[in-house]
Amino acid sequence: MRQRQFNLSQTEIPTQWYNVCADLKNPMPPLSPATGKPCKPEELAEVFPEAVIEQEMSTERWIDIPDEVRSKLAMWRPAPLCRATFLEQALGTPAKIYYKYEGASPVGSHKVNTAVAQAYYNHKEGTKRIATETGAGQWGSAISMACAAYGIDCTVYMVRCSYKQKPYRRSLVHLYGAEIYPSPSDRTEFGRKILEKDPACEGSLGMAIGEAMEDTLAHKDVKYALGSVLNHVVLHQTVIGLEAKKQLELAGDYPDVVIACVGGGSNFGGIAMPFMADKFAGKNIRFTAVEPAVCPTITEGEYKYDFGDTAKLTPMMKMYSLGSDFVPPPDYAGGLRYHGMSPIISELVNENMIDAVALKSIDVFAAAEMFARTEGIVPAPESAHAICEAINEAKRAKEEGKEETILFCLSGHGFIDLGAYDSYFAMTGRGEKA
Ligand SMILES: *Cc1c(COP(=O)(O)O)cnc(C)c1O
Repeated sequence: MRQRQFNLSQTEIPTQWYNVCADLKNPMPPLSPATGKPCKPEELAEVFPEAVIEQEMSTERWIDIPDEVRSKLAMWRPAPLCRATFLEQALGTPAKIYYKYEGASPVGSHKVNTAVAQAYYNHKEGTKRIATETGAGQWGSAISMACAAYGIDCTVYMVRCSYKQKPYRRSLVHLYGAEIYPSPSDRTEFGRKILEKDPACEGSLGMAIGEAMEDTLAHKDVKYALGSVLNHVVLHQTVIGLEAKKQLELAGDYPDVVIACVGGGSNFGGIAMPFMADKFAGKNIRFTAVEPAVCPTITEGEYKYDFGDTAKLTPMMKMYSLGSDFVPPPDYAGGLRYHGMSPIISELVNENMIDAVALKSIDVFAAAEMFARTEGIVPAPESAHAICEAINEAKRAKEEGKEETILFCLSGHGFIDLGAYDSYFAMTGRGEKA
């Protein structure tokens, strides 16, 4: 029997995060919307705890993971690394396909890796409530769980179309004790303004971030938390790649290509950056970021300074962007519908260190179906983008007769997204639309 799982023990959970900002050639600082000059730490102090701001701006290569955070991570980490032997067989490819499975966390995605770290620093610095936004609801459930773990209140603004499409993610947020509102909501001035103009507005992540920021700035003991895009989030997610590296060592392997889907870039950054460190040192390794064709931030966006939200309250970040007013069409890849991109990932794309592809959802769901039928796991539609590109890569390897090693991040499971699968069946003439 071929070995499928490469397991680490709890003591091997990383003790430090890898900060790629130490190794970037040309890091672009965020600019203050007030002055147009690089943000000062004081300007962010209303929004984030000090420790988080320090990490956001840090150029230290390695940053210690507090023991309290490691002990929370140990609720689900180390995460499994599996070799997709049955998928390989079905494809008849000479390529070896490995996936790092982040869907085994309590909330079913990688997002809780940063949620527990952010909740910890907020707790330590006396934050009473965290206000945040969520797209498909993955981040909302992750930060709610983390807030519950540290006894902090939590308010979640959820993009309205997802609020309607994904009622069970709402239930999860309630179960963890947080409050959740469809965005745009009537709880903020910004939300009320949008609703006045367009009462049926379906919302966007950019709008929901604007509402959460306004809530934060209007209350003294409230802080804001973001589940993607920012440097500290990518930093916290590097536990994914650091573990995967050790696990591939156990397998006696090293990837030729690392693949992950990108919404704001955090699971991609998490799995890829520890390997990027090797590329900086001269290693021959490729990286592919996969985005949905309906929100092609990297492949069709512009690399420029832009706001992170529609309300234009956030600092301006140098990133690939479709414009902060961009409202992506409703799509099942909810967690990938963001107009911007992590400045770290953007800078590395600009340096030609990362390739990007945009895939159509029909192909992505077909890949998810093949994966479920061979490997058994039901992937989140977001994660299925990475699967689809891994399959494309393995097919190319077959055509070229190459014994390639592919590593991809399976960022979450799709148990709460079965409605999206029903729609896919309907779209392909099988079964009724849910
Ligand atoms: C949120 C989410 C994504 C996209 O966010 P990134 O910051 O780009 O990783 C991808 N997969 C899952 C399962 C998610 O919940």
